[in-house]
Amino acid sequence: MPNESLKKRIAIFGSTGSVGRQALEVIDENPTLFSVEVLTAQNNDELLIEQALHFNPNIVVIGDEKKYGHVKQALGARPIKVFAGEKALDEVASMDVYDMMMAAIVGFAGLRPTMCAIAQGKAIALANKETLVVAGDIVMKKALECKAPILPVDSEHSAIFQCLVGETRNRIEKIILTASGGPFLGKKPNFLVNVKRDHALQHPNWSMGAKISIDSATLMNKGLEMIEAKWLFNLQPDQVKVVIHPQSIIHSMIMFEDGSIKSQMGLPDMKLPIQYALSFPRRIPNTWPRYDFRKPATLSFEEPDTKTFRNLTLATEALHKGGNLPCVLNAANEIAVFAFLRNRIGFLDMTDLVERTMQEIPHIEHPTMEEYFDSDGEARNFAASLIKL
Ligand code: NAD
Ligand code: MG
Repeated sequence: MPNESLKKRIAIFGSTGSVGRQALEVIDENPTLFSVEVLTAQNNDELLIEQALHFNPNIVVIGDEKKYGHVKQALGARPIKVFAGEKALDEVASMDVYDMMMAAIVGFAGLRPTMCAIAQGKAIALANKETLVVAGDIVMKKALECKAPILPVDSEHSAIFQCLVGETRNRIEKIILTASGGPFLGKKPNFLVNVKRDHALQHPNWSMGAKISIDSATLMNKGLEMIEAKWLFNLQPDQVKVVIHPQSIIHSMIMFEDGSIKSQMGLPDMKLPIQYALSFPRRIPNTWPRYDFRKPATLSFEEPDTKTFRNLTLATEALHKGGNLPCVLNAANEIAVFAFLRNRIGFLDMTDLVERTMQEIPHIEHPTMEEYFDSDGEARNFAASLIKL
């Protein structure tokens, strides 16, 4: 039996989501390397309880305070502390009970607890790209200051991170983020105008949470990832490129200044970048299916259709202008996706909503964290007012 103290202690924020559940699968396959210390969920109390009974964490947090009683009672026989509410997320993130946070909450809600963990110098396995989209400058500065390593979980950024091993002194000419193109690759506005929620949720290569699935269908996901990449790898906006690669085998590439290109490849399975972030700098073995170069025999690449998928154009504008514009884009997009998922607006309306909100909210060149929160709130209110949510 290995010494318990040698295990990496993991806190999974957003454990009931797609990334959270896959992180738990990886941990379950490697019980000698990791222990689960914290689990958090917003609404899904049943799954949170099931996970807690299986992994025996030190602490669980349920976001919805109405569900506290049920979770507390279900875990009553175990020495597991139960907390509820938004504030508890920040408090638990600040506690010295874990080594690494898997930041797998979706959306702006992930920013605050992740900042608390960074302030404590915790290692962050970062799935929540919105944290960097909203406030990348402040987040990265704080991480440097507090010596908190940020390990990307997003598959494209994990690919870039893996390609950078051994290249610390070498200059990047550009990075090329690959995009599958989503379920509507090749479609035009006359088709997209009629797209409904259930169709948009069906991604050809990846199985993910609802918000990122819609973001993938609109290409906003790739836009958010461009901004995420700028902050993670300290790049200039024009060093970040996107290419459509429908097979999702090449997860992204770096071109160095000698013209040499490095890529990281594999089957599209989020467990791989999740495992790499958890076990870094080690690679650990697994028995998952391997890519076979004979099928699919063709790897293809094409330019994104930014005339049809205008979210990519809007995100590129936010990437270049910076300040609070990426935060505004993100907030408006969260409202737009929320409304689309409830059949309140159409597929193409999402882009219009983001564009109008970006035009409306006053620009701030170097926002403070408080100003980012204010911009987020203003953008949400304005976007919601356009659709009378
Ligand atoms: P999901 O919707 O499946 O899960 C989200 C998790 O966050 C759930 O556990 C939920 O309880 C929790 N949550 C939701 N709202 C919350 C709130 N207001 N406060 C606290 N907790 C809340 O999402 P997902 O697909 O797992 O994605 C999580 C993050 O990882 C996103 O930022 C996404 O962009 C990123 N990501 C996901 C994938 C993927 O394959 N799913 C890939 C790359 C990056
Ligand atoms: Mg990605």
